[in-house]
Amino acid sequence: MNRVRIGTAGIPISAKPRTSKAAVKKLAELGLECMEIEFVRGVRMGERSAQELRAESEQHHIELTEHAPYYINLNSSESDKVAASKERILQAARVGWAAGAKSVTFHAAYYHDTDHEQVFENVKRELWEIRRELDDEGNQIHLRPETTGSPTQFGTVEEIVRLAAEIPGVYPCIDFSHLHARSIGAYNTYDEISRVLEFVQSELGRSALDQMHMHLSGIEYGPKGEKKHLILPESDMNYQAVLQALVDHDVGGWLICESPNLEEDALLLKREYDQIVQNRKGGIGHG
Ligand SMILES: [Zn+2]
Repeated sequence: MNRVRIGTAGIPISAKPRTSKAAVKKLAELGLECMEIEFVRGVRMGERSAQELRAESEQHHIELTEHAPYYINLNSSESDKVAASKERILQAARVGWAAGAKSVTFHAAYYHDTDHEQVFENVKRELWEIRRELDDEGNQIHLRPETTGSPTQFGTVEEIVRLAAEIPGVYPCIDFSHLHARSIGAYNTYDEISRVLEFVQSELGRSALDQMHMHLSGIEYGPKGEKKHLILPESDMNYQAVLQALVDHDVGGWLICESPNLEEDALLLKREYDQIVQNRKGGIGHG
């Protein structure tokens, strides 16, 4: 049976000093199992720090994923902005690979006034080039465009899974809270979450569920989708249903908690997840 590793988006609040190396040690102490390196405001880590982080995370058995900068738009009408976006993804992928990260996620594009099918083609073309460049360097980090939280952003579950189906070396990052916010309240029941997982499996094969990169946190949303992240118990996010569906569909991979209280909600998710796994082993509950 697969297991989902649960961890934080960035350095846990209780980690001192505020470094990635101290963070992986703290995560291990807390009983968490992975961390997303947050480069959302820019890739600020040199090759040597990346190698040190790799050694430290391996020592503490903390697996790493990575979030590339927010300033990415592979559908910009300005070619220099597309070039800069590609460069940011490449930079993140190189540092992440040096740090031993398995997967790099990013918000791929905005629709603007472009026809959505054309946006898909634009994103696909640029991602192909990024993938080829990384392949040439021997860099096998998973490129993971993410399901996004606002209807103005490229990134429905259909678009993200289709990119993964059409480009080798590209995989989905499923942010369940974004799906919930973007749809203004859907994707919040066991059946809805199960359908997402079954869609991933039908389009990408069983192996995609064995190594899923996922995000989950409380989320506030309005008519335009995502507003901000919330603490899970203070939100309407049905995280119990998500966790139950993950166990029932034998999902493996990384579940990153982006709640403002980071490790506290990550530990809540971990306790709940372990309980569901335990119940299942005992033959109680679903399936
Ligand atoms: Zn994100």
